[in-house]
Amino acid sequence: MVVSSLALSGVYLSRITDEQQPSDDIVNYDLSPDNEAPTGDAVGEGANSLPVEGRDVVTVSRQNPIDREPASTTSSPRSIEPPLWRKNAVQPPALNGKIPLAIVIDDMGHDMEMTDQMATLPRPMTFSFLPYISNLQEQAKTVSVMGHELMLHLPMEPSGSNNPGPNALVRDLPYNETLKRLRWNLDQFEGYVGINNHMGSQYTTSRSFMFPVLQEVHKRELLFLDSRTSANSVGMSLSEELDIPTLERDVFLDNVRDLKLIERQLETLEKSALSKGYGIAIGHPYNETYQALRNWLPTLDEKGFILWPISAFIDYQAEKKAGQ
Ligand SMILES: [Zn+2]
Repeated sequence: MVVSSLALSGVYLSRITDEQQPSDDIVNYDLSPDNEAPTGDAVGEGANSLPVEGRDVVTVSRQNPIDREPASTTSSPRSIEPPLWRKNAVQPPALNGKIPLAIVIDDMGHDMEMTDQMATLPRPMTFSFLPYISNLQEQAKTVSVMGHELMLHLPMEPSGSNNPGPNALVRDLPYNETLKRLRWNLDQFEGYVGINNHMGSQYTTSRSFMFPVLQEVHKRELLFLDSRTSANSVGMSLSEELDIPTLERDVFLDNVRDLKLIERQLETLEKSALSKGYGIAIGHPYNETYQALRNWLPTLDEKGFILWPISAFIDYQAEKKAGQ
């Protein structure tokens, strides 16, 4: 995949993610593994040009970024500023030889009383809020003032008949509407470190549909957590190509809302983390999950585990890979 790795390298991407005007100087790159040359079809953001499923074509611009640099000299060089995800990150406690675990509770925001209750769990948990719920910023503040980390839970099309909610990213949208919805979702509150997908078992399997999403994640300097609602998700691999800090879920805690089964899933998380060196679980704001976590979190220390916010795993994962 010569073209995709070239075109999607971090350096190249940083030159193409500025606000693109529809332009003649735009070329389609086919990202499917057996195609290594630009197709040459001229389509742009302004055209209704969302690629067709299965073709895996993404649109990038060859416009020279130097021509587009603002004349202002007041802005400081971007390289000395930490990325937004680091600015919004909660400091993890010292590891002291323990194995770090992340508990991400997503689907947050439907029930404000549950948000208040979840916020009382030992810190630092990670809470991922749906962008379309009411009192979003207020609810996000409720958990962040308690020392927890924030994420945005981006609704995407599932493969089944479940409704992903308003303003979800679905495949039959024109490209410009996709971008409009994506940006609307990401603009609904502040202070989060990154996104994870809500549903999306259909949407996350397509490189062409995930490309604009991850391009926007890159542009906004966020991290991406792949919920892995599909085993065929391209989220992790495409994020790595785009040089986006990325992680993936190891265990779902509460596909069945039963205290005993959730406790069993927490044991699964522990076992997985013992062999992998860290563990990332996703749960939901259910009473059963709250109760299981309320019982389990105080036992971590004696078992040699420690709770970390999701953002702390970016550097940790990189260090582990480097040390292999
Ligand atoms: Zn969800």
